[in-house]
Amino acid sequence: MALLQISEPGQITAPHQHKLAIGIDLGTTNSLVATVQSGESRVLKDENNKAILPSVVHCGKDNKLTVGCDACPYAKTDPTNTIISVKRFMGLSYKEVKTFKNCPYTLVENGNNVQFHTAMGDLSAVEISSTILTSLKQRAEKALGGDLVGAVITVPAYFNDAQRQATKDAATLAGLTVLRLLNEPTAAAVAYGLESGEEGIHAVYDLGGGTFDISILSFQKGVFKVLATGGDSTLGGDDFDQLIIDDCIEMLKLGELTPTQMQKIKQFARTAKETLSDHEFAEFNCVEAPYCITREKFESLSKALIKRTLLLTKRAARDAEIEMREIKDIVMVGGSTRMPLVRGMVGDLFGKPVLCTINPDEVVAKGAAIQANLLAGNKSQEDMLLLDVLPLSLGLETMGGLVEKVVHRNTTIPIARAQEFTTFKDGQTAMSVHVLQGERELVKDCRSLGKFELRGIPPMVAGNARIRVEFQVDADGLLSVSAIEETSGVKADVTIKPSYGLSDSEMEQMLKDSILFAKDDIESRQLHETQVEADRTLEAIDSALAKDANMLDQVMIDAILQARAELASVAKDNNEKVIQDKIDNLEAVSAKFVEMRMNSSIAQAMKGHNVDEFSN
Ligand code: ADP
Ligand code: MG
Repeated sequence: MALLQISEPGQITAPHQHKLAIGIDLGTTNSLVATVQSGESRVLKDENNKAILPSVVHCGKDNKLTVGCDACPYAKTDPTNTIISVKRFMGLSYKEVKTFKNCPYTLVENGNNVQFHTAMGDLSAVEISSTILTSLKQRAEKALGGDLVGAVITVPAYFNDAQRQATKDAATLAGLTVLRLLNEPTAAAVAYGLESGEEGIHAVYDLGGGTFDISILSFQKGVFKVLATGGDSTLGGDDFDQLIIDDCIEMLKLGELTPTQMQKIKQFARTAKETLSDHEFAEFNCVEAPYCITREKFESLSKALIKRTLLLTKRAARDAEIEMREIKDIVMVGGSTRMPLVRGMVGDLFGKPVLCTINPDEVVAKGAAIQANLLAGNKSQEDMLLLDVLPLSLGLETMGGLVEKVVHRNTTIPIARAQEFTTFKDGQTAMSVHVLQGERELVKDCRSLGKFELRGIPPMVAGNARIRVEFQVDADGLLSVSAIEETSGVKADVTIKPSYGLSDSEMEQMLKDSILFAKDDIESRQLHETQVEADRTLEAIDSALAKDANMLDQVMIDAILQARAELASVAKDNNEKVIQDKIDNLEAVSAKFVEMRMNSSIAQAMKGHNVDEFSN
């Protein structure tokens, strides 16, 4: 397996060679940028001394684009033109996005992609996202006073190919050189310097604004590997705000609220929640009446939500096949982990205190900055290796609608793996290469990533062509596939850039199905294989008869044709045993014919040669 060496040991660059590199946490709710200066990672602030850039983009009239804090008020006054949580849309198709609830935008279908219809025109998630990245890039250039060599951008560990590619595209559009996409939990672990410690297993608990992610990482031989991920993409800080909103409405017996009042309460509730993280009570004036809530009450309301995160945490540990007590460190990430009850309950679950000394908003960006600094070649005491795993298997369609897995799920990346295939028919000059993702045995149950054709294969007898298909998954989790016919050197390749992705839940479903249907799949795979075998046997006998029927007497021809007809009549049936019997029968009946042909071709080959040449 190819490990990726990021830097050479013992080469420390002189200060004047220091290259400017940044780490970006491109978050659903908030985004940040950080860099390493004088060996310390630190976040970069805007002119108002704020590190957090709300991931909010307003696309106003007259091409007036506003990003961040200044865009937030538009969420109330101009919701259709104010894109919040654009990250949820990255790499998804129109069909997938259509299922989102409470989505105030006018969405436009554009091929496989989706666009937001705004006052500035129809814009894709990639374009919106790139405006956030541009803003952070400008901030960094101003603060660091020079051109950046590149950026490390973080993505959730469960992001699929399409979502990663979309993130990379957004960065390119913003004029950033992407040094690497890095999984958010891995970045957080790096920020805590867990890679400088002993080998072990760590958990990263990330409770953000609208999402909860739990990741189980293993650190071994200088390598971080994501063992399992889990979470809930609809559970986050907003749900805790809602608890206060509901309580406020109940306590003050509020009736119907206007949208403006509702927006106000939302804002107040959020501030109250944040206040309760370091005060015993919070209050605000709501629709002319005072509302007050104690931390005790808020915590009793919050328990159920936190319990859900603990359940998902246990499930992830189970998926990773580890015991809770094997986990060495628990890294806390995301603004919502400031809530003392969250820290307490998570600590209780693991039976040890959690790591929360680094600001939970900043920890991911800081880890990304450390990685960017290494990749830019500024620091090299240790070679730090960061590896991720492939979330779903990758494979190819073979005859009979079957999937041949080439790279298995949970393989560490980057990886290159090749497999040989051959032609099915005599004289076949083209081959379709269909790349699939998923765990199931049949093409129809997996997800199609792309198709390409290898043409110009010289005509050969079936089975003689040697087609080597190579899969390469780079460190960012992006796939390219190439196919080469080795005897002729004919080559074709494709970089898989799927225009839509799989959602978290679909991925989970595919994994579940693969377990659920495992037995059925194996049975239907065997059936398909036998059907393919039947076709192959029929093809072979036809081609042999066409060439050499003159070797046979009529009795033999009739016997073979009879056996052939019997096989042909059942070849498409669903009874594997019957097909196999007829294949065996045809092979037995034509065994003599095969032997005769073999002898004749040996005689042909020896024609004109001295017999002595062939002895020894
Ligand atoms: P994301 O990763 O989704 O972009 P963040 O990690 O920035 O989100 O988390 C934002 C959430 O953190 C918001 O719901 C916010 O209210 C919450 N938050 C921030 N500070 C506090 C605090 N002191 N106490 C409780 N929640 C907080
Ligand atoms: Mg986050």
